[in-house]
Amino acid sequence: MSTTSSYNPADPTDLVVEAPTAGAFGTLAAVERARAAQPGWVAAGAAARSAALGRAAAAVEEHAEELVALAEREVGKPTAEARGEVARTVAILRYYAQAPYAPAGAVHEPAAGEGLLLTRRRPHGVAGLITPWNFPLAIPVWKAAPALAMGNTVVLKPAPEATACALRLAELLALPQDVFTVLPGGAEEGAALVSAADVVSFTGSTATGASVVRASAERGVPVQAEMGGVNAAVVLPEADIEQAAAHLAYAIAGYAGQKCTATSRVIAVGAAYEPLREALVKALAAVADSSPVISAAARERLAGAIGSAVDGGATLLTGGRIPQRDGWFIEPALLEGVPAGHPLLAEEFFGPLAVLLPAADLDEAIALANSSRHSLSASVHTRDLDVALAAADRLAAGMVRINAPSSGVDFHLPFGGSGAASYGAREQGQAALDFYTSSRTISLLPAGSGR
Ligand code: NAD
Repeated sequence: MSTTSSYNPADPTDLVVEAPTAGAFGTLAAVERARAAQPGWVAAGAAARSAALGRAAAAVEEHAEELVALAEREVGKPTAEARGEVARTVAILRYYAQAPYAPAGAVHEPAAGEGLLLTRRRPHGVAGLITPWNFPLAIPVWKAAPALAMGNTVVLKPAPEATACALRLAELLALPQDVFTVLPGGAEEGAALVSAADVVSFTGSTATGASVVRASAERGVPVQAEMGGVNAAVVLPEADIEQAAAHLAYAIAGYAGQKCTATSRVIAVGAAYEPLREALVKALAAVADSSPVISAAARERLAGAIGSAVDGGATLLTGGRIPQRDGWFIEPALLEGVPAGHPLLAEEFFGPLAVLLPAADLDEAIALANSSRHSLSASVHTRDLDVALAAADRLAAGMVRINAPSSGVDFHLPFGGSGAASYGAREQGQAALDFYTSSRTISLLPAGSGR
């Protein structure tokens, strides 16, 4: 029997879970069971689905501290961030518990003649959800809750590194048999799920997301993919530099930079450069929440990128050292003078690492920020409303945050990136309810009418 295992990144000798995997055949069988359960889940009605999601919220809330400890242990999430994630998971479930009662369509006048024209949103069937490890509770739930609310059943394939969190979540959600199934595994199970589900939602790295989108499009099933970000922060000279540095330190190094919305490029405009560099070096050196990165390979990739940038002429302003302790820790790092064409300027490294770049003016800063096609979230730090409005308009990013860290998401608003960071519909809020349904147009005419 094949299994998948996850280990504590702060203590790699600590095996968190070893779970059997389904393989491709087992995955297809799970999808068939979910498909068989779906008509009953719809027929149970809006009140039953709403109540089930409400009970799930209460169960997660009741076990909040247990889930916080599990997320800390399995994916290295700092306590405060894990508490925030669990609270958000509860809020998402409560929010979508109301969704089954929302209007499911509209009534229109026919262009001519009698009768009613209706639109009605119907579930797709089985939602195949593929998730990363960095938000092991909130991301599975922000996909599953709208899918379930609208009458789909769900098969979730979590990241191997977050298997225990997903299995515990399934126990706590306690939904009817085959309505919500967690299938531990990796690429084999993920690809099999994509080959069989009726709607696919993916969050993870860019390369895997592209293959999931291609496979789903070939089958003609709706697909959305949220992928990696190379996110920029623009700091203007009149900004509150100390506050900007604090926000940036959080966005660069919070949860060791392992958020798709983390900042990895800091663009300082004109006279902001010198004071920001000084303040940011201090703020990063003081980051108390230093969590490990997820694996030895992730840390090697970060250390390698820092080394090659320095070899190419960059200056390491702070951090980048590997402390003498167990676990996959690396100090939050800031570089300047990174040579043009270096991967640090173009690729996601998913760690506590950023590059500082100068720009002569706002136009150059926006051009630099928009030079990456992987932009999920951008931040702008300014006291000038005109600059804020111009930047919000011209930055190519799914989210623009003014005087706030680039990382940070409100669970009820559309979420997604621009360019290669995102494919398909937005997640969260009303956008998610639309994604997990398709609209049907119904013509209702009196019997014996002429049309
Ligand atoms: P990953 O791409 O390695 O894995 C994501 C998921 O895809 C996992 O469940 C994995 O098992 C599965 N998978 C792997 N190969 C597959 C295949 N061939 N077919 C189908 N599924 C397959 O990503 P990860 O390392 O788990 O997560 C980190 C990445 O996620 C980062 O790039 C980060 O930016 C991104 N992320 C994006 C967002 C967002 O909303 N944009 C949010 C969180 C994380």
